[in-house]
Amino acid sequence: MLYGALEAGGTKMVCALGDENGRILEQISIKTTVPAETLPAIADYFRDKKIESLGIGCFGPIDLNRESPTYGYITSTPKTDWMNCDIVGYLKKELNVPIGFDTDVNGSLLGEVTYGDSKGLSDVVYFTIGTGIGAGVMAGGRLLHGMLHPEAGHMIMERVSGDNYAGRCPFHHTCFEGMASGPAIEERWGQKAVELSDRDEVWELEAEYIAQALMNIVCVLSPKRIILGGGVMHQMQLFELVREKLEKKLNGYIKAPELKDMENYVVPASLHDDQGIMGCIKLAIDAASEG
Ligand code: ADP
Ligand code: ZN
Repeated sequence: MLYGALEAGGTKMVCALGDENGRILEQISIKTTVPAETLPAIADYFRDKKIESLGIGCFGPIDLNRESPTYGYITSTPKTDWMNCDIVGYLKKELNVPIGFDTDVNGSLLGEVTYGDSKGLSDVVYFTIGTGIGAGVMAGGRLLHGMLHPEAGHMIMERVSGDNYAGRCPFHHTCFEGMASGPAIEERWGQKAVELSDRDEVWELEAEYIAQALMNIVCVLSPKRIILGGGVMHQMQLFELVREKLEKKLNGYIKAPELKDMENYVVPASLHDDQGIMGCIKLAIDAASEG
């Protein structure tokens, strides 16, 4: 059986065909421009592929409430061309197959807990730290949506003393994304993040903000593991720094075996940047079995 997978991002749309084991059989990338151009190109790709169902992991904010009249819409996104775009409705009409729909980060998380090193874990948080910061949450084996979906990239940060950067989130300025996203690093230090690799102070500070966010997440959600992905986390030296700082912030308060093994508590994504699209295959498989 063939399943369609769409990782819908602000810069590109990755479309793939997968099998029941999450294997990617073929994959293309379509540039994200305006819906009137991009959506028909997506539909054209999938149209003759005889897919059983389609799974979409989508940039947001999106409406995941099946009771809502705008279910399946991209809602208040800063990418104004895509605001109030009925992406699920459009593809349902064009392809007429069951559609699974979730956030891009929940998609990546689902990929990791289905096919990656975190296979079988029931309580996991996945952060992507890139152009923006987003978090996917699985609690008790279910992807968490709540009233909308988690927006943990916008949790408030305590400013690190000596850091005078104004923050770049237009809504909250100094939230996690405002202080620690790739563009925030680049604006603060005046250089491409990838070119800052050997500047220790850059990653010390970055790890400090990431550890703050993780401290909050550990206290609020009690995950059994936290996965960190996204472009910024290609700086592998961050992992050790974040583990040390998180341990320090927790200060021995929470007693759990998982926290004694930090190496396996704060981990990189394990699917070589395929976690997103593989998660979308799983969203499709689940949508097909739900009918
Ligand atoms: P997106 O979030 O747009 O899907 P990425 O997760 O790749 O894409 O994030 C892109 C951002 O990550 C860039 O703005 C850049 O600041 C940062 N970035 C990308 N690669 C690296 C790297 N090797 N080291 C540090 N930062 C990086
Ligand atoms: Zn914010």
